[in-house]
Amino acid sequence: MVQKQYINGAWVDSHARGTYEHRNPARLGEVTGVWPQGDDEDASRAMNAAAAAFAGWRSLTAVRRADQMQKVLRLMDERREELARIITLENGKTLKDSRAEVQSTCREMEFQIGEGLRVGGETKPTAQPGVFAYETRVPLGVISVIAPWNFPLNVPGRKMTPALMAGNTVVFKPASLTPGVGKALVDLFHEAGIPPGVVNMVVGPGSTVGAAFTGSPLVKAVSFTGSTEVGRGIHRVASSAMIRTQLEMGGKNAIVVLADADIEAAVESAATAAYACAGQWCTCTSRAVVEKPVLEEFTERLMDRVKQMKTGDGSDESTDMGPLCGTEQLATVSEYLRVGSQEGARLVTGGERLGGKPYDEGCFIPPTIFTKVTPRMRIAQEEIFGPVLSVMEAADYDEAVRIANDVPFGLSSSVYTRDLSRAMSFIEQIDVGLVHVNMLTAYKEPGFTFGGVKDSGFGIPEAGSSGIEFFSEHKVAYIRYREE
Ligand code: NAD
Repeated sequence: MVQKQYINGAWVDSHARGTYEHRNPARLGEVTGVWPQGDDEDASRAMNAAAAAFAGWRSLTAVRRADQMQKVLRLMDERREELARIITLENGKTLKDSRAEVQSTCREMEFQIGEGLRVGGETKPTAQPGVFAYETRVPLGVISVIAPWNFPLNVPGRKMTPALMAGNTVVFKPASLTPGVGKALVDLFHEAGIPPGVVNMVVGPGSTVGAAFTGSPLVKAVSFTGSTEVGRGIHRVASSAMIRTQLEMGGKNAIVVLADADIEAAVESAATAAYACAGQWCTCTSRAVVEKPVLEEFTERLMDRVKQMKTGDGSDESTDMGPLCGTEQLATVSEYLRVGSQEGARLVTGGERLGGKPYDEGCFIPPTIFTKVTPRMRIAQEEIFGPVLSVMEAADYDEAVRIANDVPFGLSSSVYTRDLSRAMSFIEQIDVGLVHVNMLTAYKEPGFTFGGVKDSGFGIPEAGSSGIEFFSEHKVAYIRYREE
């Protein structure tokens, strides 16, 4: 049976005739669902429903909106395990990672519900006697939420919560690789009794549904997470229609290991953040830039650590790393493995699709390390988005920072050192949105903004106290209360 679209408070048949099968990336023979290839008409119905629902939703007080969002959160909390299993089924990540995703979604939603209750304004002394003035925030209207497959619950949850708390309505397009997670999320809104039209979801290709959600005059803002290439295209279209954009995009995150570092901690950090979700987190570590005196020790210990990792079906509790999310990802990452060897990097572990049962049934590439990677190589510059770590040598601290900054991206970075002065200098000199000292490149908390610089991010970043800012407009009121 073909799954449906969620428009105006109901699951309805897609206008589009075309369908596609989604397959479990750990067992490609297993079809997990048949989904519509939604079209312009589906998108248009969703946007019209959202536009019609806006007046009612914005007129509720923030406290009433928060009551409804709390119900969604309670349902999410009750269904943690079910949601985690759907994430693993569609994305392939381990159940442990999926449970962590549900947990961080709950935390981020909780924080943004609170932020929605704290949206305030300000007042200042005015130039005229008998005049009071204040500035406040008002909602924008219909918001497009366009999500990737790597955090299929967390990203839309992090975007939709502040958008809705600010009084906007939402049209949501999940990635085609994770439509079931999108559906499970929207089911929570439905069961919580969110009014019809406030949240709508259309499954379909980015080139049709995504494009419609980006260029329509019904839409006031697009919050997008995905690749830099698609983000750029969205911004081109949206900006010419005066639609604001928030773009969270790719990364090429470096861990910098200085000679005085706790090597064991650095190895653990690199191994965790390079291979979590098979290297498909935007904040994954994809480069290790290591000062020469500790390069050999770091590499050897890392290889030992990585060889202990078990690759397999994410639904098996003993698995450390699951498959890549689908055959396209498999093809892209395989191509980078070829490129790395061709460019002269030394492959020291992994590097080939795993064969034999049960691996040949899924999209499995083992944790891979290239050493002798130099800054101009493609594997040092481009986002691979797979379980591939490039180890690079730096002569000293200055060269390490130069290498770390020498990429088009600027999402996240980490330095391992015991030298406070070096650590603080690194924080100043590294061009990223998230910088860490002696911590994973992937670490984040809901109370702080999340976003990158350079090709990694554009617009007001998500989360933290800027979470609601993007989804609201300023309004100033001048009130004459006495003639003088
Ligand atoms: P993607 O760019 O291929 O797709 C993202 C979403 O955009 C999908 O829903 C897709 O259908 C849609 N889309 C595609 N073409 C479109 C178009 N023309 N108009 C509108 N929408 C369109 O990215 P992906 O492969 O799903 O996700 C992986 C990428 O996401 C990586 O580059 C990763 O770094 C990035 N990412 C970034 C962050 C962050 O916060 N910075 C977080 C997670 C993922």
